[in-house]
This record gives sequence, C-alpha cells and structure tokens, in this order.
Amino acid sequence: MKAQTRCIIHNIGHHDLFLELYTPEHQRIGWCRPLSKSIAWIGEAVLNHIQQGSLSYHDPSSLCFEHDLVIPAGQCRFEYNEQSRETFISRETFEVLQGEVRVRSIYAPLVQEIVLSHEPIDHLESAKSRKQGTRPQSLDAIEKVIFFLVTAGAGKNSPRGIAQVIKHIVELRWQDYPQSHQSKYFIDCEHVHTDPHAIMPSQLLGLETRVVAEASQVAEKHGKHWRELFKLYLSVSTGTTFMISALSLSFAEWSPVVQTIASARHILSCTPERPSRVYRPREKEMSSINEWVKLESAQLDQASDLAIDELRDWREAYLEQRQTRPAELKANQKDEEVFFHRKGLKEVLCVVVIKDRFGVEGPKNSLIPIRGINAEVSLPTGTLCAERNAIGTALCRFPRLERRDILAVAVLSLEPSLAKLGPCGACAEWLAKVQEVSPSLRIISFASPAADEVFVKPALHI
Ligand SMILES: [Zn+2]
Repeated sequence: MKAQTRCIIHNIGHHDLFLELYTPEHQRIGWCRPLSKSIAWIGEAVLNHIQQGSLSYHDPSSLCFEHDLVIPAGQCRFEYNEQSRETFISRETFEVLQGEVRVRSIYAPLVQEIVLSHEPIDHLESAKSRKQGTRPQSLDAIEKVIFFLVTAGAGKNSPRGIAQVIKHIVELRWQDYPQSHQSKYFIDCEHVHTDPHAIMPSQLLGLETRVVAEASQVAEKHGKHWRELFKLYLSVSTGTTFMISALSLSFAEWSPVVQTIASARHILSCTPERPSRVYRPREKEMSSINEWVKLESAQLDQASDLAIDELRDWREAYLEQRQTRPAELKANQKDEEVFFHRKGLKEVLCVVVIKDRFGVEGPKNSLIPIRGINAEVSLPTGTLCAERNAIGTALCRFPRLERRDILAVAVLSLEPSLAKLGPCGACAEWLAKVQEVSPSLRIISFASPAADEVFVKPALHI
C-alpha cells in the first residue's frame, strides 16, 4: 500500500493555551485561560521564557518551566464570567488573579488531541483505549504529515506568539520519537495580518498555495491517483466565526475532513492531571458539499486569474462578431447561422490556461490562455464541448503538451439558465484524468453570462 500525505490546518483560538498559575507564595491557583485581549502579551512572554531555556519537563500534553514565569499584577487578564461565576473561575480566584501570578506550566489541549489523532497507534500507550478512527495503523501508512497553525490579527488580540509556543511544544513531543517517525512530521505557522473578525477567504491564499505545493509533490511522486494519497484536514474547533467560515470556504474544493472537538468550550474538564476523552476530535467529511464556492478576485492564483481575464475578453470578442444568439434565431430558421449550435442552441465559451514548459512561444514556463467554444452540429456524434475543444487546440499549438501543464479551466455559458455550468460527463472524465497529475487544476465558472461573479467547483472530485 502506498503511504498517505496529510495536511492538517489548525486554527489557533483562545481555547488553545492554558496556564497553570501559582501565587507568589507558591500556592497553586489552578489552570486558567487568558482573555482575548491578553493573548498577544502572554504568547510573547511564554515564548521568551521558553527561548531563555527555562524548561524542566514536558509530556505529550503539557510543558513545565524550571523557573516560574512571573506575570506582574494587571499585566494579563484571565477569563471570568460575571454572570455565572462558577463557569470558569471563582470570585475568590478572580481576586487572587488581580495580583502578581506565576506560570509554572502550560497546556495545549486542543492541538494535542489533533496531533494525537494523526500519529501511528504503535507509538501511543493509550492506543487500546482509543478508537482507531482515521489514525494510521503504522508508520508505514504515513509518507508525510504537515501541520499548519493558522492565526490572524494584530495588536493585543494576536495569537501569533501562542502559535509559536504550540509549535515548540509539538516539536518537543516529536523529539522523543524515533528518527524514522520524526522525519515524517512537520509543523509550521501561517499568520494573516487581518482582524480575525473580518477575515475573508482571499486572505488565506498564501496558505492554500502551501497546500497546493504539498499536493503537487504527491502528484509528482505518485502521478495518477494522487488524490487518494493526499488528505486535507481542517481543525476548526475555536476562533472567530469569520475565520472558521473563511477556512471552510477556502478549502471546500479540497473536500477536507473537518475535525472538531465538540466540547472545546467546556475547557478544563480535563487537565494533564485529569485526562479524559472529552477532547477527542470528531471527523466529518466535507465531500458531500456540492454547491459551487464563490471566489473573490483576490483569492485567485495566477493561472485562474489569467483564465478569467481571457474569458472576459473572449466573451467581448465573440459577442462583437456574433450579436444574435442561436436560441433567438431558432424561430426564423436561419439554418446556416445556427449550424454550429443547432443541437442545444446554447453557446459555451471556455479558456484553458497551460504552462509553456519548453518555451515554444516565449520564455519557458509562461502561462498561455487558449480559447475554446462548443460546436454542436445536429448529428448523433455532433457534440464537441468548449472544454475539450480548447484542450485539443492547446495540443495543436503545443504538441509536447502534457496533462500536468493544464492549470486552469474557465467555462462561461452565454445562456442565463445554464449559469455556473459544470463540465458535462465526457468533459468531467477528461478533466478528472488531467487532475490525476495536476492537483492545482481549477474548474472555474460564473454566476451569469456577464462573467462577473466567479465560482469554483468544490470538492476536487470533478
Ligand atoms: Zn462537455
């Protein structure tokens, strides 16, 4: 069996880092969570503390300091719910927390559970007590696992430092494993400088580009059926609604498995001293989504951008030369004018963007848009779709064209009732063959014949 590559995108929220607090007199206060407005400060403070080498012990879920991290009075605020005092910390504790407090250890419950769910069973003591779920049976089943910790925001609310801290904890955890295990696991942070309460899918293009790069490596190595060997997971238990919906929209076309921890809000019902299973992630396939996903122009990669621009030009040029639609001509029976669209009486325009790998028409690797149109002659075998026409034309111009050179396909129906036109069965089969080796291939469509709003076909399964 060929081994799988997994990309896991974990959104960092303020449920992600807990601090074990003590008073200056070494009395234990307990586990607390910083308020959102203290997140940036605490993230940086903990990161500095770790970098100064104050580390005495770590286990799979927590990390203890050799010397306490001192938080001066009033510097960091902790969660407290005035309406239901017992929800998080008691009134007495709240008052203690107004003074100087000390952090002795830190705990990252959510990310730990996600990390655990992607580790081979044979490395875990508690394996027997856990459901197997999608966890790989052995290390052989894994080619590579890459975690992206995503954060957004600037200023006091930025969890960027926390992401770095969590990266550190996870890397320490992997250091205990054999070399063969370590070399397959990677973790990195991806930060977006936008208010997490206003983030748009377009701002996650950088992250998507990294995911495409991982998928392309799988396609490069394994060729056909890369899709079966590449799996994307979205871990979105916490964070702003905007961030969660931006992540879901950006990656919908990848049919991710969504990992959520339902009880993420009931934090601290399990701690390192009281481990429980409340944080076990649930998994849900997103492949059932079959709506088209709306894209903003800033969300497009270069090939898609070019396909759309060229398609708009192609539409202008076509309408300028042929101002009457076949459907309108039908009543008048102008046979010659409807000849090429006689079957469906509907015109479809297409642009395929290819990479000129050998520099046939300019510098090597230039992106070249190629136009296509459907031709539907009234014969049993008379239908040639716009997509296949454009791909055939591309092959005429670039005889050394390979599947992996086909990067984007944009399709526009000039018939309003066929808005967001998807590839027909025959074209879908062609494009599925292309996608076997070209993970970044996008199938783009439009909301109306005006070619304004852009949509992408979700769930890369064409
Ligand atoms: Zn077709």
